[in-house]
Amino acid sequence: MSMANKMYDLVIIGGGPAGAAAGVYAARKKVRSVLITEEWGGQSTVSPDIQNWIGEVSLRGVDMANKLKKHLEAVKADMLDIVESDRVIEVSKEQDGFKVATDDGKNFKSKAIFRSLKVASIGLFSGRSFLTNRRTWDRHLWWGTGPK
Ligand SMILES: Cc1cc2nc3c(=O)[nH]c(=O)nc-3n(C[C@H](O)[C@H](O)[C@H](O)COP(=O)(O)OP(=O)(O)OC[C@H]3O[C@@H](n4cnc5c(N)ncnc54)[C@H](O)[C@@H]3O)c2cc1C
Repeated sequence: MSMANKMYDLVIIGGGPAGAAAGVYAARKKVRSVLITEEWGGQSTVSPDIQNWIGEVSLRGVDMANKLKKHLEAVKADMLDIVESDRVIEVSKEQDGFKVATDDGKNFKSKAIFRSLKVASIGLFSGRSFLTNRRTWDRHLWWGTGPK
């Protein structure tokens, strides 16, 4: 079945630390998911010296980005699809879930959305219920509501 015709349990938007972590957990827990990201690694990809990646005294951002992608590739099996170099341009609520559209003309349907994006991307969402993270790696996940 093509990705466009599948009903996913979860669409994960973003391939930074939060999105990648969501993808690893989803695949391991057999949550049928698709992760869509413009780029791997997120904001700190440009950093030459990440010092709080536990288990690494110092890690370059580009190496962290590669580790995230490699980890997802290793665990995805047939539970996680990965769409890279594609930008989500709209998330809309439908009767039975959400529809996610990308700038490459692809559409995905899912029961839930995990967004792991910068605050500036919040305007994408016309839906009302999704799991999100608050910007930093260290803070907790929370269930939120869409913008009014
Ligand atoms: C220069 C710099 C250095 C930093 N160093 C550290 C550090 O050493 N330690 C630390 O703890 N924190 C550091 N941070 C903060 C850390 O980078 C962020 O807290 C972390 O990246 C947030 O992760 P995230 O996955 O939530 O989001 P982001 O990192 O913002 O990742 C968002 C992801 O979503 C993708 N994306 C965005 N919009 C779309 C869209 N519309 N469609 C599809 N994909 C999209 C992006 O390509 C990216 O992959 C640093 C930040 C910067 C800017």
